Amino acid sequence: MTGFWIRIGLTLLGVTLLSLLMQAAIGGPSGLITGLICMSTWVVFQVWHLQKMALWLQDFRLNKTPSGLGTWDILFSAIYRLARSYERQQYQLRELLTSFRGATEAMPDGVVSLDTHNQITYASQKAQQHIGLKGEIDLGRSIVNLLRHPQFARYLEKEDWSEPLVLHDVPQIGQILQVQIVPYGQSERLLLSRDVTQIQKLETTRRDFVANVSHELKTPLTVLSGFIETLRDLPLDDTQRSSALSTMGGQAERMQRLIDDLLALARLESDHKPVSSRFFHALPLIERTLGDARQLSRDQRRIVYQQQPGPLEISGDEQELASAFGNLVSNAVRYTPENGSITIGWQWIDNGRAAFWVRDTGPGIAPEHLSRLTERFYRIDKGRSRVSGGTGLGLAIVKHIASRHQLELSIQSRLGEGSQFSLIFPGSRIR
Ligand code: ADP
Repeated sequence: MTGFWIRIGLTLLGVTLLSLLMQAAIGGPSGLITGLICMSTWVVFQVWHLQKMALWLQDFRLNKTPSGLGTWDILFSAIYRLARSYERQQYQLRELLTSFRGATEAMPDGVVSLDTHNQITYASQKAQQHIGLKGEIDLGRSIVNLLRHPQFARYLEKEDWSEPLVLHDVPQIGQILQVQIVPYGQSERLLLSRDVTQIQKLETTRRDFVANVSHELKTPLTVLSGFIETLRDLPLDDTQRSSALSTMGGQAERMQRLIDDLLALARLESDHKPVSSRFFHALPLIERTLGDARQLSRDQRRIVYQQQPGPLEISGDEQELASAFGNLVSNAVRYTPENGSITIGWQWIDNGRAAFWVRDTGPGIAPEHLSRLTERFYRIDKGRSRVSGGTGLGLAIVKHIASRHQLELSIQSRLGEGSQFSLIFPGSRIR
């Protein structure tokens, strides 16, 4: 700065001295005129540079930096350097903003930034989907008018945002949304949104499952404890005692079956290892299943086996496949009235695939139940299932085994006529 003023001073001094010198050398009015000419030349020089600067700043471009003489050159270079560093900072800020937005967009949660009046200043794509925002159009609008939910309005007012808020039935969204406000800066806020529909569904399933298991175990336990009291408190004759013991045995068996099925299901669900791809002959397995079916049916139903000629080797976990075949066959026996018939078959179908199927002449299943049959504890007729010794878990087990082996479980049924359950093997699992 001092250098600048020294230069100005020196220049003024130089010009004054020059005019005085002229006046002294030449003397009289012509000396004064020469001095004035020098002064004017100096003024014109400065105005010319000023004009250059004005034009440059009017339409500022770094690559159009003018050149100047003396102090002007220093001035132009200084402005150029300042502008360059400003431009670099702007570029870095832009980059930072882009990468920040990129990171926000990559987040699994939605992010909305709100100003002090709860007006939207930014909303990530996810947040737009969650809340139903319309991109740029909704910028500047109040979030309360867009996420219309009385609970949310109260949450926003309460200003205690330590816990998230779960919103059910958000109009136009049709999903369960979890939102949380996170304050930052002076008094700005971030609104984080998460679609928790799936998590909530899983939680409901888990709760239902625990309730179902407790209920299933409670009934036989109540019967058992009732009989224990009777045996302890009342004098029973031999016939009554043996009838009580046989009922107790039946209830204990029922609990045993339920626990066995629950354990089987838990084992299947927790086993994430790929199943064996070892091939084995399927005929002995099918014959064993057939024998079990006949034993369960006590020769009360006609049970036949149909097999297309051809090789019959399948790959997978033999024990699991035996359990899947067994569950289908035992259902057919349990739901088919005496004198009905059950056909078990093995059939080659298209694209090198083949199916193990079980057809019965039981009560059949109405179409509205078909898609839900493999849900745990889903039964069409609870009483009938229990009387026949069902646990409500058989088809859930079959479905798990099928998906672990990449098999397709297909169910065809006509109410009043019967049902056919098929396990379709892909070409890679048969030879
Ligand atoms: P359950 O132990 O009750 O048989 P499953 O999971 O094996 O449980 O079957 C679920 C429900 O599907 C049964 O309760 C029954 O209503 C229906 N179901 C299964 N197999 C048959 C069949 N072959 N014929 C008619 N209904 C069936």
